[in-house]
Amino acid sequence: MALFDNIDKLINEHGSSTILRERLLLASDKYSLLENEKLKLLEKIKILEAHSQTLKLDLEQAKVQIRDLDKQLSHSHNVNPDGYVCDHCGSSNLKRTGSRSDPTFGDLGVKQKLFICNKCGKESAFTPEP
Ligand SMILES: [Zn+2]
Repeated sequence: MALFDNIDKLINEHGSSTILRERLLLASDKYSLLENEKLKLLEKIKILEAHSQTLKLDLEQAKVQIRDLDKQLSHSHNVNPDGYVCDHCGSSNLKRTGSRSDPTFGDLGVKQKLFICNKCGKESAFTPEP
C-alpha cells in the first residue's frame, strides 16, 4: 500500500503544484495590470502637479492684481468718493478742487462740487443729490 500512497501523494503534489502555478500566473497577471495602472496614475499625477503649479502662478498674479486694484480703488474713492465721471472724457480720475454756488439752485444754498479731470484736465461740476 505504501506504493499507492506514494503515487497518490505524487498526484496530489503535482495537482497542487499545477494549481499553484496557475495561481502564480494569475497573480503575476494582476501584478502587471496593477503596475500599468500605477504608471498611468503617476503620469496623471505629473500632469496634475504641472497644472497645479500653473494655477498657483495664476493665483499669485491675481492676488497682485487685486492688491493693485484695491490701491487704485481706495485712492480714487478718497479723491472721488461719489464716483463722479468727467463730463468731457468720462474718466473717474477726478480731483476735487472746491465748490461753487449752483447756477440754478444757488439761491436756495445748493452748491456744486468742482473737480478737475486728471486725464483731460477739464473741469466738471456736480450738484449733489439731495
Ligand atoms: Zn476728463
